Amino acid sequence: MGKVIAITNQKGGVGKTTVAVNLGVGLAREGKKVLLIDADPQGSLTASLGYVEPDDINRTLATVMIEVMNDVDIDPMDGILHHAEGVDVLPANIELSGLEVALVNAMSREVILKLYIEMIRDQYDVVLVDCMPSLGMMTINALAAADEVIIPCSASYLPVKGLEQLMATIIKVKKHLNRKLRIRGIVMTMTDFRTNYAKDIAEMIRSGYGSKVGIFKTTIPFSVKAAEPSAEGVSVYKHCPGGKVANAFADLTKEVLG
Ligand code: ATP
Ligand code: MG
Repeated sequence: MGKVIAITNQKGGVGKTTVAVNLGVGLAREGKKVLLIDADPQGSLTASLGYVEPDDINRTLATVMIEVMNDVDIDPMDGILHHAEGVDVLPANIELSGLEVALVNAMSREVILKLYIEMIRDQYDVVLVDCMPSLGMMTINALAAADEVIIPCSASYLPVKGLEQLMATIIKVKKHLNRKLRIRGIVMTMTDFRTNYAKDIAEMIRSGYGSKVGIFKTTIPFSVKAAEPSAEGVSVYKHCPGGKVANAFADLTKEVLG
């Protein structure tokens, strides 16, 4: 049975999608069967893996969730794409924002994604869900479906307020929808090693949340090498093998496995 990990932070642009892609491919390189689910109507994960026009894809997460919501009999693997670097991808596009509205009045609205993932999780070792920057119904669905949450946190801003909201949401989901949910850890992204700022923020998070939330030892450096691969539809391992960003993601992968 695959482990389901939600990659979540309602703050935008903190590196969620970059972590999802490179952790996903990293796990595939370690021999794991990985499904990446794009749970963001922006379709950034979809686009950054080379499916450059997400809105032209006709079968996406929105399609399968609507079918699950309406109790339609589906082939759950239908719509899953196979990327050249060994990961499977369930894409998303703008239709997901319509679905999010439709969910509000649906029965079992918080567990539609969970119901879908239950149909495919025995095909995978790990299912990673790349969340959108909000704590709305899609993110609640991802948290309800997940065993673990990884929280990417940009090292360049003070995330304390946002983290409090996120923790409160996770605690609520845990209480009402998903008792087994656990926070796997915060991963510091976009770290500039030339400043102490990242260290200070990590220290603040540690002193604020230390006992409750782990922080991964690996931090992802700030580098164009992390940003460039998405234009090529590949991971950083392919774009710049052996570079410091590729090595950092390989280390993060080992920590997640370990
Ligand atoms: P959103 O909230 O919009 O979904 P996100 O949290 O998924 O954003 P990303 O899309 O992964 O964040 O990253 C935001 C931007 O920063 C992108 O342009 C990405 O290429 C770039 N970026 C990500 N990681 C790094 C890094 N380590 N160093 C430099 N740039 C990065
Ligand atoms: Mg994203």
